[in-house]
Amino acid sequence: MEIERLQAMVRDTYGARDRARGVEGTFAWFVEEVGELSRAIHRQGHDERMQEFSDVLAWLASLAELTGVDLAEAATRYADRCPKCDASPCVC
Ligand SMILES: [Zn+2]
Repeated sequence: MEIERLQAMVRDTYGARDRARGVEGTFAWFVEEVGELSRAIHRQGHDERMQEFSDVLAWLASLAELTGVDLAEAATRYADRCPKCDASPCVC
């Protein structure tokens, strides 16, 4: 799935609820999901990790949507090199 499509799906499916919750509440959910991802990475198997990675991506897309950020455009910063040292592989 392309990032544009993920953000559009999140906007269409969760946009109204996300706007009602607001940025702060949505950010709190995002952080909760990052915690669940940490547990999955350290104590669970591949299926749980896959689910938590997808949840974190969806909440990240919700936050991008709420704050007017185009995730696909943001991702281009890492499209072909490290944005700090401008090299690939990174040398910084
Ligand atoms: Zn670098």
